[in-house]
Amino acid sequence: MPFTPYHFGPSAFLGLVFRKWIDIPVFVLANVIVDVEVVVVRGLMLGWPTHRYCHTLLIGAVVGALWGIAAYPLRHLFEKIMRILYIPYIPSFWKMIISGIIGVWLHVLVDGLCHNDTRIFWPKSRWPLTLWGIITSIVTGNIYRWYISQEELTTICVAFFIASVIVYILVLLVSKKDVAESKMSKKG
Ligand SMILES: [Zn+2]
Repeated sequence: MPFTPYHFGPSAFLGLVFRKWIDIPVFVLANVIVDVEVVVVRGLMLGWPTHRYCHTLLIGAVVGALWGIAAYPLRHLFEKIMRILYIPYIPSFWKMIISGIIGVWLHVLVDGLCHNDTRIFWPKSRWPLTLWGIITSIVTGNIYRWYISQEELTTICVAFFIASVIVYILVLLVSKKDVAESKMSKKG
């Protein structure tokens, strides 16, 4: 994506839908921290490509895991933020590590759809012509990369953002209902 904010759409949507298994703050922020690489490459004028090792599945997984570990001491802060947002939140060490990894992977897969300098499969240039290789290529966009424009991808990301707002409203309604029910049962 040309701009990091577009990553908020897909990551917020998936984070909210799978909130029982995904640590939302770690997952969403993993999508932001990967682009530090782009900022550094551009800032230091290192030239092309701007998407380097952090934008690969292999090194991206390491970056995501390290981010999950680094975020663990911040869990109480995340708890406070999630309480303000009325989103149920139960952090755990492994959940944070896994959320960091899949957060970075989601970012890399989205970037792989529109940036032709991403080398998702580094150190391989592409997956071999095995069944698994072909499936992975289709899933990650290596085959249809040239069939989706940046504008189309932007639209998809915005659509995901709107969908995530709808899911968030539903989460709010459910958590309000839960609070009201627990108050009722306390009174009873
Ligand atoms: Zn990126």
